[in-house]
Amino acid sequence: MKLTILGSTGSIGTNTLDVVRQNPDRFGVHALVAGKNTSVLISQILEFRPAVAVVADGAALEALRLGLGESGLPRAKWPELAQGPEARVQAATHSEASFVMSAIVGVAGLRATYAAIRAKKRVGLANKEVLVASGALVMEAVREGGAELIPVDSEHNGAHQCFRVGTRSEVTRLLLTASGGPFRDTPKDALWTVTPEQALNHPTWKMGRRITIDSATLMNKGFEVIEACWLFDLSPKEVEVVVHPQSSVHAMVEYNDGSVIAQVSATDMRMPIQYALTYPERHRAPVPRLDWSESRRWEFFPPDMEKFRLLKLAYQAQEQGGSATCTLNAADEIAVEAFLKGRIPFPAIAQVVEETLARQTTGSATTIEEVLAIDAASRQAAREVLLGRKIQARN
Ligand code: NDP
Repeated sequence: MKLTILGSTGSIGTNTLDVVRQNPDRFGVHALVAGKNTSVLISQILEFRPAVAVVADGAALEALRLGLGESGLPRAKWPELAQGPEARVQAATHSEASFVMSAIVGVAGLRATYAAIRAKKRVGLANKEVLVASGALVMEAVREGGAELIPVDSEHNGAHQCFRVGTRSEVTRLLLTASGGPFRDTPKDALWTVTPEQALNHPTWKMGRRITIDSATLMNKGFEVIEACWLFDLSPKEVEVVVHPQSSVHAMVEYNDGSVIAQVSATDMRMPIQYALTYPERHRAPVPRLDWSESRRWEFFPPDMEKFRLLKLAYQAQEQGGSATCTLNAADEIAVEAFLKGRIPFPAIAQVVEETLARQTTGSATTIEEVLAIDAASRQAAREVLLGRKIQARN
């Protein structure tokens, strides 16, 4: 099976390529789609020899050409090189690719993922912005076209496995676990002085910068609640978050007879990635096993929705419906960027998002272009909130 990997140079992208590397007789690469990291992309091209390589823009394309020239790979063996959104769509819909890994961070991955779904590909969904920004549209395309959308996010992947045990009408609720992030035990007031370096130090997962900050604020868990509602046709009330610092149980599904099915595995993204590729079959995966001969303790407790306000805002936005979750995502991205640049303190991320949500009227998008327009307007509103508002030192 040939893959197109959207976001090949990122954390999910490189883990996906590791699964390909371990299974050369089963998987190959049609297209590698990256942003600007041409040095990693070139090493991937040399190893996996895709037919197509796509980068974000003209400058990255120039750098890619130069780098490939210096790599010693004869020009006749170069992949077809391209840049920009249209090239991403072509790579995601090409007839050679039957599996598309959606792992670009942010809405830059939206159009190509949507196109892959409409082209009836099997899509491994890591990019959570796809469902957070445009859940209704994407799920309608899945239903209409019959594409397969297999979640790669470990919690949703775990839930996907738990849902195989019964039927939808037998399900009473889904429980998503959260590690609680680096500030799980930090007093609320102390959050005003945490630095980007501290927030980037996630206790269990090694991920990209945005998702790591979103994990520290629990915004990421909020996005996962929204994603779960769309993927599994649940209302926000049917999705509960439970803090589980050991991150061994990824998700649990409660059935109407009171039985709870949990999915448990080591914290290694190659497992859910391989599952998405081989479903409904299972194959040996090169991931660590839990050692049951050792004694272990697993804790579960409810999240503090006042300390981690963004989780509460995510529930509210999903209840509200329409474009509220698109605005939530856009405002969060702008606020996270400002925090990483040292412009606002950590708790102000939630303040900026809340104020942006209050400013933007909720609409509903019927095309991806409309989603992108709402996203752009929400970003602009968040920038205005950042500029015009003196963020309170304490709240
Ligand atoms: P990274 O930041 O590590 O990687 C992001 C990828 O997106 C890179 O390949 C980057 O390219 C690419 N990219 C960014 N902007 C563009 C653009 N304009 N055009 C083309 N490519 C672009 O992120 P992660 O791999 O951690 O996460 C990817 C997605 O998966 C996110 O939505 C995240 O929330 C989700 N996710 C991640 C998990 C994880 O364990 N990492 C777990 C669950 C979900 P380049 O570096 O070349 O610029």
